[in-house]
Amino acid sequence: MTKVQGSTVSESIKGDSLGQSALSEGVHWTSELMRKRHTGPAQVHKDWSSAGASTAAVHAGTLDDQASGAVGTPIYQTSTFLLGDEQYRSVEEGYARDRFIYTRYGNPNQWAVQTKLAALEGAESALVFSSGMAAITATVMAMVDKGAHIVASNELYGGTYNLFNQELPTFNMTVSYVDPRDYAAIEAAIKPNTQILYFEALTNPLLKLVDVKRLSEIAKRHQLRLIIDGTFLTPISCRMIELGADVVIHSASKYLNGHSDLIAGAVMGSRKLVDMIWPRLLTYGGCLDPHACFMFERGLKTLAIRMQAHEKSAYQLAEFLEQKSVIKRVFYPLLNSHPDYELAANVLNNGGGMIAFEIEGGDNAALDLLARLRIPKQATSLGGVESLISLPYNTSHAGFTAKQRSDMGINPGCVRLSVGIEDATDLINDFEQALNSILLENK
Ligand SMILES: *Cc1c(COP(=O)(O)O)cnc(C)c1O
Repeated sequence: MTKVQGSTVSESIKGDSLGQSALSEGVHWTSELMRKRHTGPAQVHKDWSSAGASTAAVHAGTLDDQASGAVGTPIYQTSTFLLGDEQYRSVEEGYARDRFIYTRYGNPNQWAVQTKLAALEGAESALVFSSGMAAITATVMAMVDKGAHIVASNELYGGTYNLFNQELPTFNMTVSYVDPRDYAAIEAAIKPNTQILYFEALTNPLLKLVDVKRLSEIAKRHQLRLIIDGTFLTPISCRMIELGADVVIHSASKYLNGHSDLIAGAVMGSRKLVDMIWPRLLTYGGCLDPHACFMFERGLKTLAIRMQAHEKSAYQLAEFLEQKSVIKRVFYPLLNSHPDYELAANVLNNGGGMIAFEIEGGDNAALDLLARLRIPKQATSLGGVESLISLPYNTSHAGFTAKQRSDMGINPGCVRLSVGIEDATDLINDFEQALNSILLENK
């Protein structure tokens, strides 16, 4: 088995993206990596790679309408495109990803977002998907062969765990789950048929920060590919390709779009790896609709400024909560008390908006708190402009026993808070009134 998917073609131009098995079955043009590279829709844009994140968020990838002069990318609400000599040639010669043919394959609205994302992440290429899970499934399936082994975090997003635990065994694939911060255990779990390391940059809900640079050193030493789910952080917090991740995946339903009004996913990486993932997007079909791309592009324009606001309010609220005697512990990466504070101070340009904390009195006290808060809405998900609050025990971690949860460090009374962009003072006052009214009633 090839150690790393596509490694046979990385330094040469022969071979294909799907491994030898696909070759013998007859490679079709979508997975052909010996194809010529043509200037794609991404390259007709100006280069914003040296611009700051706020500038890139606004301008990269965004087009003005040639026909009317309208400012901003028009919505190309079409399923298909006129075929001419150039389009036929792109199919024949295998550069169809660089031309518009059919919207599942590519659409100007997808490219506008993709170009913006690539500029923000400092990646060569990006792909958008109809959900974070569509992005994760396509990426993982592109990077492994039948019979592969994966080393992954033992604290994964539930959907990803289901993919690993329920779908991959069908392809004779196995996964070893390890503590995302135990680098010796990660290295020890690697087997001869291991092909990828799969980790989340910041874990849910306790916000453990993984050292992407260290993981990438392990990956390189063993010729593995490192896939990082960067959803809880964003390119504004940390450019993980630069730290050594091969592919960074995001659920764009969270911070990237940022307004809790869209489901989308994204993948960023080298052009070659993204070209390998693209055929899986075509097969699994999780393409993003042009109108959703338009909303996503609009959301992205304010990413940098939103993250500043998230961080500001989250940091102040975390400091406030830490002072409260009824709050036992507060987790926020930029607090001195956070176990990964040193790493966070080193690699994060922005602490993001996620906070976890433990309230005295267990899950009932936590439920009581949620009911008394006026600003944060009780809902799952994160990364929106509005604060969202939920308890792991009856949402993300409801499938575990109380003992399993406490083994993971999720104790009774654990609250997960996605701090929105509301004024810190208003959030602090709201928590103050809610905590005080609990205390008064329990006197
Ligand atoms: C939400 C989430 C996903 C899944 O994304 P969807 O857009 O809901 O499909 C994956 N990983 C993490 C860390 C998430 O928070």
